[in-house]
Amino acid sequence: MTHYDAIIVGGGPAGSTCAWQMVKQGMEVMVLDKAAFPRDKVCAGWITPAVVDALQLDIEEYGQEHVLQQISSFRTGLIDGNDVETHYPDTVSYGIRRFELDNYLLQRSGAQLVLDSPLQSLERSGKNWVVNKEYTAPLVIGAGGHFCPVARSMGAELGADEHAITAKETEIKMSVFQQLDCRVNGEMPELYFCQDLMGYGWCFRKGEYLNIGLGREGGHGLTGHLEHFCDFLKRHDRIPQDIPDKFHGHAYLLHGHSKRKHLDDGMLLVGDAAGLAYPQSGEGIRPAVESALMAVETIIEANECYGREQLYPYTRRLLERFGAVNSHREVAPDAMRMYFARALLGNRWFTRHVVLDRWFLHTRQGSLHAS
Ligand SMILES: Cc1cc2nc3c(=O)[nH]c(=O)nc-3n(C[C@H](O)[C@H](O)[C@H](O)COP(=O)(O)OP(=O)(O)OC[C@H]3O[C@@H](n4cnc5c(N)ncnc54)[C@H](O)[C@@H]3O)c2cc1C
Repeated sequence: MTHYDAIIVGGGPAGSTCAWQMVKQGMEVMVLDKAAFPRDKVCAGWITPAVVDALQLDIEEYGQEHVLQQISSFRTGLIDGNDVETHYPDTVSYGIRRFELDNYLLQRSGAQLVLDSPLQSLERSGKNWVVNKEYTAPLVIGAGGHFCPVARSMGAELGADEHAITAKETEIKMSVFQQLDCRVNGEMPELYFCQDLMGYGWCFRKGEYLNIGLGREGGHGLTGHLEHFCDFLKRHDRIPQDIPDKFHGHAYLLHGHSKRKHLDDGMLLVGDAAGLAYPQSGEGIRPAVESALMAVETIIEANECYGREQLYPYTRRLLERFGAVNSHREVAPDAMRMYFARALLGNRWFTRHVVLDRWFLHTRQGSLHAS
């Protein structure tokens, strides 16, 4: 048996941020991930400056060897409706490839990596957890994303009674001809809301890569909505006509819709495992990174006593940062949604100050800083 101070299940942004911070504090940490890295992750790959700050990413250095698209404008509107361009004087977001960023963060963490190895067993033995009958630690952090097995062991009924966002995405490397045909500008990603406002589609260009996808509350009719969205983009000549139609799907929970517990004796959940994505935009990388920072702060304060009581400040920190957990939000009747959608999404002031600044960029919420 190999003993660690903590074992982290999942090496996405939540897991690698935990590992990075704990190693910095002198802890012996292992990250277990079922995938061999670098690995693809279904994602649009949009990160806000708060993520860059929290991760202490040196943008210039990172951009030398990885795709890093600066974003300073947006084209937004309704699918089959009008659109509006919003321009900012500076960079307000970045486009990255998860294939690259996740691997970079995981390698940077300095933790012991056990990759290509799923969690197969998790048992209690005295004050320790025994993972895969091979590794022991007094603390296990569940960072395995939406289907995290640690969340399941804490009672989450994955998929059963959960009001998830379902989304499909494709990221392709465009040929030279496709790049010439693609009218989407890298600095200006395009976001188009579904007519019923239950989701939105996006079209992001990051250099020679094009990322297209659509996410909606609940899974009903996702494929049809996505096909309709792609037709819309093609009819308006936004994307090349010969874009492959092979999309990958995934689900995740929005904060406020998730009933998952965040902790138990000797266990914490971070990122998608805890169901923390922002409700309006579905942005999940920032909550993944920030929850990891708050988890590590709590772990250090707990001073090697990892009972529920000692870990409780983590839940308090999450609530202070992301707000109270409500049950499902009331859904306005279809006719009312459509009326507001048409009226407001064509309005420049509303688009800039509410849709973009408040819902997507969270400009009012300052960055959380790593130690
Ligand atoms: C289509 C789509 C588009 C999105 N676009 C954006 C976006 O542009 N910006 C944004 O901020 N958010 C976006 N999100 C949300 C974002 O992808 C997630 O919130 C984010 O990846 C959460 O990070 P995480 O570290 O918690 O989990 P993940 O990134 O999912 O990482 C979990 C890790 O756990 C590993 N794992 C899973 N099961 C096991 C197991 N049994 N054993 C061992 N390891 C395991 C996985 O291999 C994976 O590496 C999008 C989501 C979707 C579905």
